[in-house]
Amino acid sequence: MNRFGLFSLGRKLTIAICLIIAAGFGAIVYFYAQQQERNILLQNERSIHQLLDSVNQGLQVVMITGSADVSTLYAEKLKGVGDIEDFRILRTNGLEAFKDNETVRKVNEFRDVDEFPLHAREEKLQVLAPDDVNLQKAIQTQQFVYFYNTRDDEEFLSFLLPIKSVKRCQRCHGRETPVLGVLELTASLAGTRAAVRQTWLQAGGVLAGALLAVFLVTTLVLNRYILHPIEIVSAAMKRVATGDLLQTVPVLGRDELSNMATSFNRMTSELRSTYEGFTREHNKLETIIMGTEEGIVVSDETGRVVLVNSAAEGLLGKDAARIVEQGLPALLDDPQRMGRLLERLPEQAARSEVILYNERVLAVHVSMICHADGSARGHTVVIRDISNERRLEQKLRELSNIDALTGLANRRALDETLMTEFALAREQSRPLSILMFDVDHFKKFNDLHGHDQGDRVLKAFAQTALSCVREVLDTVCRYGGEEFLVIARETSQDGAVVLAERIREAVAAMQVDGLKVTISIGVAGLGETAAQTPSALIELADAALYRAKEDGRNRVRVASGGAA
Ligand code: GH3
Ligand code: MG
Ligand code: MG
Repeated sequence: MNRFGLFSLGRKLTIAICLIIAAGFGAIVYFYAQQQERNILLQNERSIHQLLDSVNQGLQVVMITGSADVSTLYAEKLKGVGDIEDFRILRTNGLEAFKDNETVRKVNEFRDVDEFPLHAREEKLQVLAPDDVNLQKAIQTQQFVYFYNTRDDEEFLSFLLPIKSVKRCQRCHGRETPVLGVLELTASLAGTRAAVRQTWLQAGGVLAGALLAVFLVTTLVLNRYILHPIEIVSAAMKRVATGDLLQTVPVLGRDELSNMATSFNRMTSELRSTYEGFTREHNKLETIIMGTEEGIVVSDETGRVVLVNSAAEGLLGKDAARIVEQGLPALLDDPQRMGRLLERLPEQAARSEVILYNERVLAVHVSMICHADGSARGHTVVIRDISNERRLEQKLRELSNIDALTGLANRRALDETLMTEFALAREQSRPLSILMFDVDHFKKFNDLHGHDQGDRVLKAFAQTALSCVREVLDTVCRYGGEEFLVIARETSQDGAVVLAERIREAVAAMQVDGLKVTISIGVAGLGETAAQTPSALIELADAALYRAKEDGRNRVRVASGGAA
């Protein structure tokens, strides 16, 4: 029995089928047994009737011979034969005949001779009341009457057969009464009832046997062809429900249940491939999420943190359990800032912010995940460490302004700085001068000592120039090739000439690998030249430089034209 016991499908079906068949069989057996009972009773009635008829004829013969005593004897002998309980010959008034002298007297009187002797001992035995319904009916209809009656809990069948007055009787009894008496026979129904009971018992036995057979066959068929296959599929379904998708069930036969088994196998196969697909996609996603350098933290619609990747743990310096416990607002240890990031604006579902966290520059991008209907499903926080990028940016910015060979500000930086300083100086009417340098006969130097040696000289010049200028006020730049420029803030043209001389002398004294160079310098002051633009100022300095070259090199010339 399976775990459903009495309530199992098999039990219910078996009980239902047995009840239906029991009702049908029961009805058939009931009507059959009832019919049998009727037949038995009818047969019984017929037999007794026939018996009574032949008794009647026998009696008439006896009576004709005038031997009434023999009749009494005959009646006595009949009692106790088979089921015959009682047999009497009654007169039409219900008294038993031949027990008194009434009939003898009447006959003698009618014949007018004492032909028949009187009984010495008279007995009046009222067997039936004179107005007994059955007695009257038998006499009036001159037909036999039978009826069932009960005495002392025993059932009897009684017959009343009228003794009709025929011609031969009228010799002694006259013609007045058509019916001379009644034969009364009472038979016990015990035997008949036993036969009926036997019939009922046999019918009941057949019914019980048939029901047992039906029960057994139904149970067998149901179990084998319906319940067993269903149980197999049901057990497999149960295992599938607990996550075991490797279930298949045998397909037996070609009925509805085998169709069900086929569908089940197809379903588990589909489930398997879907699950494998999901697992593959999940693994991919997990690899991406867990392998990425970007920290990812995801919360659900209640704000509960549901995913933290290892990069997030590393970037925030907290383990996943702590992040989950603290919740999204405490993610950056700054609930106010995080609150602003999480706060939703109708037209904006994502926000980014760059923050300094644990000495790292972090780009925090918060986006809201929404359902199709627009309601919030949660938040995703992506954290990227941009410290290195920031450093590189800074480096690039610096590199773009620095000359690679000398480490001085390059032309681009020079232009920017000069433009700013020029504008400031003009605006505030403050002094500003520029000094333009050019190495003398450098082409020849290169030709003589090689380009690398020339480079080393240029580097040495840069250091010498830097050592001569004021750190805060002066900016030394490489103008291009072997030409340099110094922006001297807060410096008049005369002051610049002093600075130029200092540099010129230092360079002249400088030795690079035992080699020496000289430089020529052109100086131009903003106030002194009244230059209108930075390039005009440069041009004036360049012109002064040109003159220095012309005048013999290794010297300083000013834009105003005065000698240094
Ligand atoms: P001058 O005295 O008239 O200035 O003569 P010069 O030979 O120096 O002439 P000019 O200034 O026109 O020469 C420029 C030379 O400087 C050309 C080139 O050989 C050299 N030069 C320019 N830039 C570099 C550099 O970066 N490295 C080296 N080694 N040489 C350079
Ligand atoms: Mg030059
Ligand atoms: Mg030169």
